[in-house]
Amino acid sequence: MPLVGIAKAAAAAPVLEAKRAVSYSHLSTGKWINRVVDSRYSFDWSINPYRGCEMACQYCYARYTHEFMELREPRDFETKIFAKTWNAAAFRHELSKIPLSQAIAIGTATDPYQHAERRYELTRRILEVFGQSSGRKIWITTKSDLPTRDIDLLERVARRNLLYINFTITTLDTDIARGLEPGAPRPDLRLKALSALQARGIHCGVMASPVLPGINDSEEHLEQLAVAAREAGAKWFGGAVLFLKSPTREVFWNYLKENHPELLQRYESDYTSARPPREYQIQMENRFEDIRHRNKLSRKTTPYLPPDWESGRQLSLALYPSG
Ligand code: SF4
Repeated sequence: MPLVGIAKAAAAAPVLEAKRAVSYSHLSTGKWINRVVDSRYSFDWSINPYRGCEMACQYCYARYTHEFMELREPRDFETKIFAKTWNAAAFRHELSKIPLSQAIAIGTATDPYQHAERRYELTRRILEVFGQSSGRKIWITTKSDLPTRDIDLLERVARRNLLYINFTITTLDTDIARGLEPGAPRPDLRLKALSALQARGIHCGVMASPVLPGINDSEEHLEQLAVAAREAGAKWFGGAVLFLKSPTREVFWNYLKENHPELLQRYESDYTSARPPREYQIQMENRFEDIRHRNKLSRKTTPYLPPDWESGRQLSLALYPSG
């Protein structure tokens, strides 16, 4: 069958560099900023500068997005990385059409501060555009400590716009983190980055997503994480339970077999669909609520008045973080 659309573009993308098992390619894109139609999210638009992610989280729900490019080997997502070809004029043009009242999230599918960002600096270029705008609501989600590279730029963005940075930290246990998120910076480095950004007036929080039954979901485990997040300066704390569908399911099952064989049976009965039973989800929601209450952490972002926010423009709403 002839390749079409994104699969055709991916097949034709010139390889920029192949190092070890990872290759990097440029991918042309007709659209930088995409509409979010799912009403469960509190942002209206998403930006994902990269396709694929070397952090290789075993539970990464975005693995299916490589199938759109006809890349179907289980590890393709973490070894064939595509950097979108930067076009500042096109990006500015798209942005100019988005009303200031609508929130924009960077990193909804793949991490905007993944390793490829050290080479291609796409997230940095996007932030440079936001650094010249004012009155926008911007949301970044990452599992990296690389935002500290851009601390001056992020500070500039946060002075003129509502900027929130969401650090995903599933565990403080480095052994668990190494197995689950083999390519991600250590959890303590992420907390250190959060602390550095928070000290510069950039609002940050922690999401313990995904919550994995029997691995990081105990009261004690999440409480320790919340305490560390609070001490680092996080303003909000939360987490969503693991969402599992193919091809992530196959990758995660292999992880379980190697690392937690005793949990296989539980997952097989809990994950007959993409989500665990509703009772478990409610139990976790209540657990997070109690932990937030004890640690005086918010469930959502807290609005603040950016020092250089254009006067006369209404300042509104807090965002509910997602995974
Ligand atoms: S950092 Fe995010 S995008 Fe990258 S592999 Fe992990 S979950 Fe997926």
